[in-house]
Amino acid sequence: MDFATDRETESLREEVRAFVRDHLSSGVRERVSSTGDYHDQQFHRALAERGWVGAHWSVEEGGRGWDRNKTDVIYEELASAGAPTEGSAITQIVGEAIRRVGTAEQRERLLAPICRGEVLLALGYTEPGSGSDLASVRTRASRDGEGWTIDGQKIFTTLGNRADYVFLLARTDPAAPKHTGLTTFLVPTASEGFSVAPIFTLSGQRTNVTYYSDVRVGDEARVGEVGQGWEIVNVALAFERGGEFAAQLRRLVNAAVAWGQDEELGGEARFLIRIGRAVASAEVSRLLGVQASWSRTGARAGAVEGAMAKVYGTEALIRESRALLDATGVQGVRNRGVAGAAAGGELQHLYRESQIATIYGGTSEVLLTAIAQQRLGLPRGRRRPTPQRERSGELEQ
Ligand SMILES: Cc1cc2nc3c(=O)[nH]c(=O)nc-3n(C[C@H](O)[C@H](O)[C@H](O)COP(=O)(O)OP(=O)(O)OC[C@H]3O[C@@H](n4cnc5c(N)ncnc54)[C@H](O)[C@@H]3O)c2cc1C
Repeated sequence: MDFATDRETESLREEVRAFVRDHLSSGVRERVSSTGDYHDQQFHRALAERGWVGAHWSVEEGGRGWDRNKTDVIYEELASAGAPTEGSAITQIVGEAIRRVGTAEQRERLLAPICRGEVLLALGYTEPGSGSDLASVRTRASRDGEGWTIDGQKIFTTLGNRADYVFLLARTDPAAPKHTGLTTFLVPTASEGFSVAPIFTLSGQRTNVTYYSDVRVGDEARVGEVGQGWEIVNVALAFERGGEFAAQLRRLVNAAVAWGQDEELGGEARFLIRIGRAVASAEVSRLLGVQASWSRTGARAGAVEGAMAKVYGTEALIRESRALLDATGVQGVRNRGVAGAAAGGELQHLYRESQIATIYGGTSEVLLTAIAQQRLGLPRGRRRPTPQRERSGELEQ
């Protein structure tokens, strides 16, 4: 594995930086902060026009047939600039599942429009009672003639308010063991019986509760075989976890350095040590991300490298943002737009944003368990008392 970057990659970085200067306007930033959606359709369409959505997909699929590393470079640069790429990222995660297990009709209908920025997808896995224990989802899809009727509720369906389809994990066989009775669907958000309500996180980001009340879909909405949902979701999850947090760490460092320059802290050893630690964390996080990306190019998509990159990057983000925010004293707690806010409020915004990063896409505790078992070969641990297990009395059995 070669970690070095070549001239072509560096020139792509420059191209992305120029794109950011041209397209990440104050209008885009204002729309993102006023809605809380980390997606802007105009910006997304501009990305797609450049061929930067699904760029590593084949030309027949609508992509450019690029090396996966190039796509990583594009999204790393966009994330470092704080560009709203959640819609592009989530859509491509689902796209990876469609490429692998979708029917020819689904690939034809969806992949090229995704690359053109015309179709947006959301992930509908988590339910109020099923997050880490995802295989226990209760949203039900029942056979209904040629199609299916869906009933249930999902929580944290990020961009469910903007997406054209929700990639939904549903129970199709309640009598089967929990991992085998699941199937995935692409549910059109225009369906009768679909509704959505917002939830806002600590940093003002919008995610959603989505409701499915007698939603009728045809069998063409099914992705993969009936009962194969667990395996399919795990393919998609392997693409969800990676090194994107290195870019957020870089953003953090840039904001802290800007503040330090304003305050003329160039000679302050205590401040420089904090910066140095954050720079080192960003670099380790980047390298783990490169390794995760490389692991996906082989047959082992779903290996633990993505989990390792995600745990390290998100834990580092919490640690370093706290340390750097502390360094800024009272100026640091001022919000974006408030006079005198350290680094224009960017540091405290990143600090607030970091608090949820160890939760979405799999919590640190759960991912560490997976690493311990799958990489280190450790035995399954004793089950920890979660609030749900205590309430259900499972622990007393
Ligand atoms: C901002 C945000 C965006 C999200 N976006 C999406 C999305 O687009 N689509 C989607 O489907 N989901 C999304 N999620 C959901 C996310 O994946 C879940 O929140 C996450 O998997 C945790 O599930 P939970 O919230 O039910 O917590 P729980 O599973 O109830 O966990 C509670 C606590 O118990 C710990 N715990 C649970 N089980 C174990 C165990 N076996 N061993 C040790 N500790 C354990 C956890 O680590 C955690 O600290 C999002 C979440 C957030 C916060």
